[in-house]
Amino acid sequence: MGSAALGEAIRNIRDWAMHEGRAVTTPARVGEIFGSFVFNDKTQQARLPKGVYKSLRETITQGRPLDISTADAIASALKDWAIEHGASHYTHWFQPMTGITAEKHDSFYAPTGDGRAMAEFSGKELVRGEPDASSFPSGGMRSTFEARGYTAWDPTSPPWLFTNGNSLTLVIPTAFVSWTGEALDKKTPLLRSMEALSTQAVRVLRLFGSTASRVTATCGPEQEYFLIDRNFYFARPDLINAGRTLFGARPPKGQELEDQYFGSIPERVLACMAEAEAELYKVGVPIKTRHNEVAPSQYEVAPIFESANVATDHQMMTMETLKRVAGKYGLACLLHEKPFAGVNGSGKHLNWSMADDLGNNLLNPGDTPHDNMQFLFFCAAVLRGVDRFQGLLRMSIARAGNDHRLGANEAPPAILSVFLGDMLTDIFEQVESGGAKTTKHGGFLDIGVSVLPQLPRDAGDRNRTSPFAFTGNKFEFRAVSSNQNVAFPATCLNVAVTESLDYMAGELEGMLAKGQGLEDAVGALLKKVVKQHKRIIFNGNGYADAWQKEAATRGLLNHKETVAALPEVIKPDVIKTFTKFKVLSERELHARYEVNLENYAKTINIEAQLMVLMANRYILPAALDYQKQVAQSVIAVKQAGGASKEGKKLLTDLVKLIDGFRATTVLLAKALDHTSPSTEAHAKYMRDKVIPLCMKLRDLGDRLEVIVPHSIWPLPTYREMLFIK
Ligand code: ADP
Ligand code: MG
Repeated sequence: MGSAALGEAIRNIRDWAMHEGRAVTTPARVGEIFGSFVFNDKTQQARLPKGVYKSLRETITQGRPLDISTADAIASALKDWAIEHGASHYTHWFQPMTGITAEKHDSFYAPTGDGRAMAEFSGKELVRGEPDASSFPSGGMRSTFEARGYTAWDPTSPPWLFTNGNSLTLVIPTAFVSWTGEALDKKTPLLRSMEALSTQAVRVLRLFGSTASRVTATCGPEQEYFLIDRNFYFARPDLINAGRTLFGARPPKGQELEDQYFGSIPERVLACMAEAEAELYKVGVPIKTRHNEVAPSQYEVAPIFESANVATDHQMMTMETLKRVAGKYGLACLLHEKPFAGVNGSGKHLNWSMADDLGNNLLNPGDTPHDNMQFLFFCAAVLRGVDRFQGLLRMSIARAGNDHRLGANEAPPAILSVFLGDMLTDIFEQVESGGAKTTKHGGFLDIGVSVLPQLPRDAGDRNRTSPFAFTGNKFEFRAVSSNQNVAFPATCLNVAVTESLDYMAGELEGMLAKGQGLEDAVGALLKKVVKQHKRIIFNGNGYADAWQKEAATRGLLNHKETVAALPEVIKPDVIKTFTKFKVLSERELHARYEVNLENYAKTINIEAQLMVLMANRYILPAALDYQKQVAQSVIAVKQAGGASKEGKKLLTDLVKLIDGFRATTVLLAKALDHTSPSTEAHAKYMRDKVIPLCMKLRDLGDRLEVIVPHSIWPLPTYREMLFIK
């Protein structure tokens, strides 16, 4: 079977190479297609009556509620626009706590009673949908007798048209809540947290004399992913059902030559990327960069940043589109955090900042950050927020898949810390010791070749080992995982910074009320904040063992895996803060705890079940075949009057290995037949009892893989999957 997949893959690549004219984008077309499938500002302006357009803009930019007559007018224009483009259906698209997206398609058309059908779409249908909520996780918030759930249009993210196969659907991005108004999704808390952040940030800006009236959290999520030939994918039950390989011996060549990162992109892969990008351009996703990543067959795609909720929607579409388009090129897109053991996993750097409605990036240090009080204030608020809520931020990225990555010498450690770089660290040191007077600039690079242009040097080097790094004019939350929705990490970041801004604004207001000058007051406040929270700043090597020890002496949290990290979301301080800023109630937070634990336990259970299946139905039969072959050979040698010492030894070793493999499979299957008194207990059981058995079984299986003949090995190998492209 493994060999069959190999043959198919090779034919596939040859067919691809012979297929001409499949490329779909040229740079010239990008301008033409970008946003052509989005009911964006330009289209709204062109298609909506003036008054309606104005109300909608006010809703989008100022957060004013939308009335039903406006909604009716928008719905009607939206329907006409969608139908002109060829759409027959619309869907309320939402992001339940499963972490993926959900959609139910409704036709625009209804029978008229005289044998015809007419397109209809009312404001009510635009604004509200009612999917059956009972099939989505609620973390105990909803009992089955109150199954009602509602989707509510989020007007701040414009609707778009989604092409899939031969159908075109109007997609309406929505928030998903229960009958009681509790958030059943990832978008509702994100939107709430953006409101809260805006309020507190505007309050601070006022103190600095700004006239801004709204602040938006901005995000630019970079997506890492793998592309492998689809034939390999279909021949691996683990990839199909768990998204990662549960068996697989390390290949002779991995990523040690470092010849993959930024290497030239294979032709078929590039063509696939180009089509995915074209699809994304149509729906307005501003894709900007693409490149090879560190591991073989690993790539990255990144957009230009947008407001956090639009960026989140676009990120979800990016993941869907990559998966969908990959199939057209005979490829499979793997978004799992760790599809292959032994080579790098995938992350999703979440670049984050705040922008006011006058167009300023609040984390832009300018040329002389030392005297940019407002910048230092916002930056210190982030530092304080990350320190105070390090547990929550750690929790926001905790999931079974990310456990394979964090702290594994390829991704940031599980300890949250902030990388500031030399320039800012120096300034904050000056702040702490009484006031910042200078900025250390990087100067110019001396390249030593006179014909090359003079390049300004950045004031600090990059640091790939930090989970949370300042990168010039934004922070980069690097511990976020490739497979997750960025909404919750962004929500937690917004809340952490909101709380800081609220606290610091309160302090500052108090000092100003007592007659202290602004500059003095800010200086004194920053000094206090930096003193209290500087332990979170770490510019060194996050991969080093020394950091684990150092972080412990600083009192920083170090939750090494998901089950240890999840309870952070129900800590009293977190509940107090989320409640205060009306982002999530105690019940809603508990629901997230419950859903995440359940997701962890289910993930491990699926993986373990798959391992038992693969052991019994793939690996063991092949291993027994080989055992028989060796045994027959030993007998044949003996019958021929010879004696093969090594042949006998091979047989003995093989029998021992296969026995061990089979015995461990039985143990694992038995271990899975287990019930626990609570979700928490079950998650712990999975972590403590099931995972160690899975690891043992994998080790034995991988040892078999390297001795059983390739011709009878039933699964595509790492060497094939990662290097045949
Ligand atoms: P690098 O991470 O290599 O420094 P870039 O400067 O291209 O790369 O930025 C990476 C990502 O950060 C991009 O998605 C970019 O749009 C995003 N980004 C840049 N500025 C901001 C900002 N102010 N807020 C949020 N994201 C931003
Ligand atoms: Mg980056």
